[in-house]
Amino acid sequence: MSDMNIGAFGITRVVEMEYPMAPAQSFFPELTDDMLAEVRRIVPPGHLTDDDKVILSFHSYILRTGRYNILIDTCCGDDKQRPHRPAFTNMSGNYLQTLAAAGMQPEDIDFVMCTHLHWDHVGWNTRLINGEWVPTFPNAKYIMAKGEYDHWNEMYATGKDHAHRNGFEDSVLPIIRAEKAVLVADDHEVDTGIWLEPCHGHSPGHVVINLESGDDRGLLTGDIIHHRLQFRYPDLSTSADTDMELARTNRKALIEKHAGAGTFVCAAHFHGQSVGRIEPEADHFRFDGVY
Ligand SMILES: [Zn+2]
Repeated sequence: MSDMNIGAFGITRVVEMEYPMAPAQSFFPELTDDMLAEVRRIVPPGHLTDDDKVILSFHSYILRTGRYNILIDTCCGDDKQRPHRPAFTNMSGNYLQTLAAAGMQPEDIDFVMCTHLHWDHVGWNTRLINGEWVPTFPNAKYIMAKGEYDHWNEMYATGKDHAHRNGFEDSVLPIIRAEKAVLVADDHEVDTGIWLEPCHGHSPGHVVINLESGDDRGLLTGDIIHHRLQFRYPDLSTSADTDMELARTNRKALIEKHAGAGTFVCAAHFHGQSVGRIEPEADHFRFDGVY
């Protein structure tokens, strides 16, 4: 049923879309011309457009533990209004059909987990039914780090407009109101072998998700890493990172910890093969895709 296994856990990627998000040098403000030339040389096809835009995939992972079906990060969603991101406004895609093709109906999901509460990781938390945003996964508890939730909730209360305000309003608050949210510490253990770990910087309360089953280890990295080029240049933070310095420190520590350790790294935005192992290489790292 699953496409790959981490010990006894099954993993399936559910792709919503791929999109040329931004010119590489504006998404990675510290990417020099020389570095860009090296990136063009090393990244596989599909990661960079001919005019050097970074191509990002928007996908979820289904984690089948044998006990629970867990959906991790819920992409952008249909029918949402995204004034800061017109290309993602009023989308109408095949996400739920893709989920069904992977053997999963909305009612089959036991837990939804979000690495952070940006609009492109919470979108399918809800769907529009008769003009109202309702939880897409009626039987699921939605696990969110409390620190991350508190940050965006405080931002929301100020009334200030920002790129993540609409997403919080239409994809997080309805989950709270429906009493489907479980706000947890950012080292919360969901079940045996599944636990959160704080990895702040991309967003104030961003977490990564650790998996351990048998001899295998897995890691869902959320947005602490966006693109394969960050293994070649781990210092590079993105313009989407709230705190570029903290994101840099935490990303490098995470990469160093898992490099050569055999961990299956499940990345959030990689085109094509998004699960792989990190290997050390000279003064940097390499991502060897496996799925
Ligand atoms: Zn993000």
